[in-house]
Amino acid sequence: MAKDEMVWDLSQLVESTDPASIQKKLESMVSEAEKTRRTYHGKIKDLDAKDLLELLEKKDDYLLKFEGTVKYCHLMYSADSTNKIARQLNDNVRMASMKARQALAFIDIELGKLLAEKPSLVTDPILAEYKHYLEKMLRRVPHMLSETEERLIIMKDKNGIDAWEMLQSDWLSTRTFDIELEGETKTLSYGEIIGLYQSPNRNLRKQSNQIVYENLGKDEIIWASALRAVCEDHLRMCKLRKHPTPMTQSLIANDVDHKTIDSLMSTIEKHASLYQRYLRLKAGLMGLGKLANYDIVAPLPNTPDTNYTWKQSCREVADAYMEFDKEIGDWVKEMFERRHIDGKVRKGKSSGAFCASWLAGKSAYILQSFHGKMGDVYTQAHELGHAIHAYLGSRAQKPSNLEIGSCIAETGSIFGELLLTERLLSKAKTKEEKQAILATVLDEFGMAAFQVSARVFFEQSMYDEMKRGKFLDGDTIAKLWVKARNKIYGESVDWLNVMKWEWTMKSHYYLANYRFYNYPYVFAQLFVFALYQLYKEQGESFVSKLRKLLAAGSSRSPRKLGAELGFDITEEKFWEKGMKQAEEFIDLLEESL
Ligand SMILES: [Zn+2]
Repeated sequence: MAKDEMVWDLSQLVESTDPASIQKKLESMVSEAEKTRRTYHGKIKDLDAKDLLELLEKKDDYLLKFEGTVKYCHLMYSADSTNKIARQLNDNVRMASMKARQALAFIDIELGKLLAEKPSLVTDPILAEYKHYLEKMLRRVPHMLSETEERLIIMKDKNGIDAWEMLQSDWLSTRTFDIELEGETKTLSYGEIIGLYQSPNRNLRKQSNQIVYENLGKDEIIWASALRAVCEDHLRMCKLRKHPTPMTQSLIANDVDHKTIDSLMSTIEKHASLYQRYLRLKAGLMGLGKLANYDIVAPLPNTPDTNYTWKQSCREVADAYMEFDKEIGDWVKEMFERRHIDGKVRKGKSSGAFCASWLAGKSAYILQSFHGKMGDVYTQAHELGHAIHAYLGSRAQKPSNLEIGSCIAETGSIFGELLLTERLLSKAKTKEEKQAILATVLDEFGMAAFQVSARVFFEQSMYDEMKRGKFLDGDTIAKLWVKARNKIYGESVDWLNVMKWEWTMKSHYYLANYRFYNYPYVFAQLFVFALYQLYKEQGESFVSKLRKLLAAGSSRSPRKLGAELGFDITEEKFWEKGMKQAEEFIDLLEESL
């Protein structure tokens, strides 16, 4: 039987696909971790630069040695969770990984202590390749508590503050909603009813929003209690950990600083009118005087129903990358030829799409469910951008330098989407096609850059009010939400009254110890739009700059990477470049009318 080109070939990841030999490899992964523990436990504090280099290199080699086997088990399971062997291997790999992690957990703790005692190690030339890795670790040190305290916090959080997130997610996954569909009352789960938000039928969009948020609002007392508890806990932990602001923890995790994020958010606020201009244009395209909230990401009514075969999609995406850079285009083709992309739709396959890098193989594997829609072609371009990031990174960096934070991780992927946009626009035959492409890009930009910014403003305002001693009940929180939302949308959208409860369903707000998860989305979107603008200004000479940036992985901070492009990302001037790119797309849309 011929191999199906839409099904990936995972056998490249392992020496043998025999489950017994895979299990053996997993066992040796655990025993090697335990051996490392016996060698180094309690001794890291005495290491000099040379010994430390040896340890860090050992840690990286260890990762590369077992990466293929671990990926094989995970990927096989995500492709088909109904496969018996896959289920067994997934179980085995989870158990082995947990044991290995436990055995090696001491390294970070002891390394933190070593760096606190001898910060000069960070700049030691012997450790040059690990400089930023160590810098990032050192930045965390002043905020670490004692081992006993840290363990106590984890233990008490499990049934304490972490329970709110579970409650919220249980609520969403168990409630049902009654809605009239084609003359019949249907009872839908949350996952099902939110699918109607993007329905071409405007009344269904309105009804589904009304029903969901009305029900969420009925339990406002629960959501307000939960949010208060999570936020108050965070403020107390900030004090204990000596974080100067509620955002500090997130800034450290994302390898950025206050000045950068302040100037990013201020650029957004100043350009809210640009987004509003797009929303008014979209209202016109939809034949409406003004958009309602349930129209914001709705499809345009005249969107042509173009279908793509797997081959056509592969060609469009590969050519889009090829026009940018020949070698990158060849790597994209290689991803298809070596069958590293699983696009087949099947039962038991995990939903959504992802790209898993395979550093040891200097490559990656992609999963998606390909239905032949334009959105699927975009998903392919997006995930292949991640793959290119992995191709370049794994050729230039040690694994420790490929722990790429959320601000930079989407650079290759969003850039790839823009390359595809350029190509599809140049081939579009009708104005409806052009408009559909532009609306896809601008809807995504609007959500990631602007809508998410409202959430940043909202989160900040909650801490500000709490510090002022204000009690946050449901109504007060709803008012803060509406205020933050209006900062972005102004008068450009009509909102259903129940949308004041929109904050209740954002699961991130209930995640303890994960505050300000939001601005990296804004950063990533505007960062890549700015890069794309630079590409258009500089043409071919920009290609090597982007390659260098992607090859850097996490070996330099986002600020440093910006500086290498000739920009200071702590200044609004840089972010305005991203806005300029968005404005060009909006102009194009306006011209197409
Ligand atoms: Zn992505």
